[in-house]
Order: sequence, then C-alpha cells, then structure tokens
Amino acid sequence: MPEPDRIVAGLSCRDVLADLSDYVDGELPRARVTQIEAHLAGCDWCERFGGEFSTVVRAFRQGLREPTPLDDPVAHRLRARLDRELPAAP
Ligand SMILES: [Zn+2]
Repeated sequence: MPEPDRIVAGLSCRDVLADLSDYVDGELPRARVTQIEAHLAGCDWCERFGGEFSTVVRAFRQGLREPTPLDDPVAHRLRARLDRELPAAP
C-alpha cells in the first residue's frame, strides 16, 4: 500500500481513511467534509482507494437499513399462532 502518510490539503491519507466512515454517513462537521473533499480531489491514492472504500461503506450501510424479511419459519409459526389464539372479528 503506497504512502498513506502523504499530506494533501492539510490531511494525511490515514486521517482521511479514519474519518471516511463518518464522512459517508454525513456525520462530520462541514469544515471537516470540505477538508476531506479537498484531500480526495488532490490525492490520487485516496481517489482510487478511498473512492472504492466509500462505495463499499455506502452499500454496506444501505444493506443494514433494509428491513428484515418476515418470511422465515419463526415468523410463520408466530403468525399461525396469532391466527389461532386471537378470536376472529365478528
Ligand atoms: Zn490521500
């Protein structure tokens, strides 16, 4: 892995990578976002590696937000039991 300690726009690649997860989540202060984007724009190493990483992180977090499917056997048993034990509406 080449030169993660190079400094671009006042940040080292290591600093950028450390903040990348929060950056993808939009949890960084605006000033920090600007600084990171300036680094990414001027750093070919981060543009390549960090760009790929942020795509992966974004996809991963979107995956976590997807609702859990309720078509597993436990959900079916729960549904069947509720149907049996709850009186039907008159
Ligand atoms: Zn960099």
